[in-house]
Amino acid sequence: MRRHRNVKIVATLGPASSDYDTIRALFEAGADVFRLNMSHGDHDDIRSRHNIIRDIERDTGRPICILADLQGPKLRCGVFAEDSVEIAEGQKFRFDLDDAPGDATRVQLPHKEIFAALKPGGTLLVNDGKLRLTVDECGADFADCTVVTGGTISNRKGVNVPDVVLPLAALSDKDRKDLEFVCELGVDWLALSFVQRADDVNEARGLVRGRAAVLSKIEKPAAVEAFDSILEASDGIMVARGDLGVECPVEAVPPIQKRLIRRCRAAAKPVIVATQMLESMIDSPMPTRAEVSDVATAIYEGTDAIMLSAESAAGSYPVQAVRTMDNVAIEVESDATYREIIEASRTAILSSTADAIVAAAREIADTTDIKAICCFSHSGSTALKISRERPRVPIIALTPIRETARRMVLSWGCHSVQSEPVERFKYAVVSAVRAAKASEFVTPEDQVVVMAGIPFNVPGSTNILRIAPCDERRIFGAEAD
Ligand code: ATP
Ligand code: MG
Ligand code: MG
Repeated sequence: MRRHRNVKIVATLGPASSDYDTIRALFEAGADVFRLNMSHGDHDDIRSRHNIIRDIERDTGRPICILADLQGPKLRCGVFAEDSVEIAEGQKFRFDLDDAPGDATRVQLPHKEIFAALKPGGTLLVNDGKLRLTVDECGADFADCTVVTGGTISNRKGVNVPDVVLPLAALSDKDRKDLEFVCELGVDWLALSFVQRADDVNEARGLVRGRAAVLSKIEKPAAVEAFDSILEASDGIMVARGDLGVECPVEAVPPIQKRLIRRCRAAAKPVIVATQMLESMIDSPMPTRAEVSDVATAIYEGTDAIMLSAESAAGSYPVQAVRTMDNVAIEVESDATYREIIEASRTAILSSTADAIVAAAREIADTTDIKAICCFSHSGSTALKISRERPRVPIIALTPIRETARRMVLSWGCHSVQSEPVERFKYAVVSAVRAAKASEFVTPEDQVVVMAGIPFNVPGSTNILRIAPCDERRIFGAEAD
């Protein structure tokens, strides 16, 4: 099983995608990574979805990446008796501290620090800024508002208070419990919400203790300002456009997206573009032209991954949404302009042996007719460096470590394969060629590049590159020890 594109697709799971058949259909339609949002659903739901994904991994024989997203200090309303209500422009609506289920006149907002900071005339935004309310009157435990922009408000929707700076810790008690739970469960990536500084990432990393790779969601102006140090402290980045477009002027989001994608690529760390990519597909089987263009733009910019949120978690057309992304990706990646943009935005190679050998592999792919670049990697760092080069041919990333195989799935172009440990280079070549053939990347007439480090089992030691035939009878004859 192989994909016919390089950019990866992340699909959030939720009520619309919680059984084996649906999740498997998402995987087959093109979802490479599944996101479990800790803001919605309890630990039993999360465990059940996690276990289903691992079952699919076993049944399909392909590594699948799981990303758990911590809620972070996000403000959310409570729940409604009917799960959701419509509120209309001009009507009154109250937020309070009462945990009774809400209705069309009121709902709980379980954050007393908001009420302490609010002032009449202030603004409350709901659901990534889609609904807007103005505060008429407020006290220590309520805010009476007038609806300026109406719409649907449903259980636990996010609330932003744009004019107020709230004193919030990076990880709540809930986040700490969730972090421990998902690390023990065995997720591959942990996403941190509302990161503001590198220390927030380091604090989480201390608790994760290597059990997952750590991804920072950029959704605060402070995180955009401190981006270089946050990137340095993180294994990956998400351009979390939902809250980012509320916390910053919405027109600031596209330039930030472009800049962050370039920085991540230069640092050889994966980046995800998230939120509202195919928003209309929550209720419609067809995307809008603007959405298709947005997905295409992120791919042209060279992002590692594109993400579905409510489209796959709570929408009516989750599989069609994944298929739409897959189709757009295949089309964009076959466009000559895409290649031009990707080549033009490549950064100069760094001065290590591994960087030089990786650049050489890409040059070989550019100038000869090899069909894939195969690399053996322990930590995955060599595969990430090849991915940064955005070569013309697929990257077959082999590793004996199951966790590494799963993590690499998020990175542009990496076809992860968990292989047997190999002791000698010639066996590495055989193993790489077999993996490439098994997934139909090559036929026996083809040639591939194989990269590995001798001695084996020493991370970061890539020092051999061979152009190898895919005909196994020819591998041994020509191969030195
Ligand atoms: P975040 O800021 O972390 O993205 P979010 O509330 O925007 O949080 P998403 O995962 O982006 O959540 O999903 C978008 C919407 O889809 C949610 O607001 C919610 O209505 C719905 N949704 C997602 N996952 C679930 C779930 N597990 N259970 C119920 N609803 C869900
Ligand atoms: Mg969201
Ligand atoms: Mg968010």
